[in-house]
Amino acid sequence: MKLLITGGAGFIGSNFAHYMVKKYPDYQLINLDALTYAGNTDNLAELNGCPNHRFVHGSICDKQLVENLVQQGVDAVINFAAESHVDRSIAHPEVFVQTNVLGTQLLLEAARKHKVRTFIQISTDEVYGSLGPAGLFTEQTPIAPNSPYSSSKAAGDLLARAYFETYGLQVMITRCSNNYGPYQFPEKLIPHMIISAIADRPLTVYGDGLNVRDWLHVEDHCSAIDLVLHKGTAGEVYNIGGSNERTNISIVSTILEELQKPETLIKYVADRLGHDRRYGIDASKIINELGWKPKYRFETGIRETIRWYLQNDQWWNPIISGQFKLNEVNPNDTD
Ligand code: NAD
Repeated sequence: MKLLITGGAGFIGSNFAHYMVKKYPDYQLINLDALTYAGNTDNLAELNGCPNHRFVHGSICDKQLVENLVQQGVDAVINFAAESHVDRSIAHPEVFVQTNVLGTQLLLEAARKHKVRTFIQISTDEVYGSLGPAGLFTEQTPIAPNSPYSSSKAAGDLLARAYFETYGLQVMITRCSNNYGPYQFPEKLIPHMIISAIADRPLTVYGDGLNVRDWLHVEDHCSAIDLVLHKGTAGEVYNIGGSNERTNISIVSTILEELQKPETLIKYVADRLGHDRRYGIDASKIINELGWKPKYRFETGIRETIRWYLQNDQWWNPIISGQFKLNEVNPNDTD
């Protein structure tokens, strides 16, 4: 099988590249990434010299490049490429529309034109909006995004759906909850808090800290996408979640406890505009229909993740001392 993955130098895409190269040594992976501030070829260093992984530096918005790649006998496109940071979308929505909407459409069009067999759109539970204290998002939950980021992802999903309904492109959409694990850019909640705690900097928490997110280990996300690729049904949406709902403040406390740092490092700051209160995923469809079995309990996954950041300061130090400063944007994006 030949796969075109996009955004594969980012957090989830690079983990997926590692996962696939290891599990399917006979597959060919083309990995297209624009290397925005969030893309990092260091995430792919272990794949250097690997004959079945080829990195291409470029944008999904480059029509000619995308067509050239898709024409190389690609069987499936898996679209991870996105602007992914909610606070950046509040400050600068344009680039989110550019990549997450227009870029997705260009990819879909190239896949349709060159008769690619399968297209997987990697999306988010944030397209469903926010939940009250009870209930879970199912695949039938109406789309009601609240931020420019989630709106742009929802628009990408709707285009993907339209390419299935209108042109018969074999599209599947996955909507996952918050991922955590190695190689996550340190603007996101878990790596940001781990790195701040290691450095004895304040751990800045939005509002009352009681916003709830469901946490999914990135490796479990990869195994779910693997199943969708091989066993999924075209035209379907699959929710992927870890059944690990936690308040933000409890995540912060767990990190401090693991690192044996004092709770006095916690500093509450003004809440994000339009901050969604709770996300929760019902993943029973992918579990029952495709046989997905997440491997990680949150308690194990978070401990391993903390250890990874402790042991890999050579990965994050250049990021936080370079173009991205810890307090530059928002101190604690969960999404
Ligand atoms: P990330 O920000 O770490 O990585 C995104 C990657 O996309 C980067 O490598 C970046 O360089 C690349 N990119 C951006 N614009 C591009 C363009 N125009 N052309 C090619 N590459 C481009 O994001 P992530 O956390 O790895 O998320 C991957 C996907 O999963 C996204 O689509 C995101 O919406 C979705 N998602 C992420 C989470 C999460 O918790 N991280 C949760 C739900 C959904």
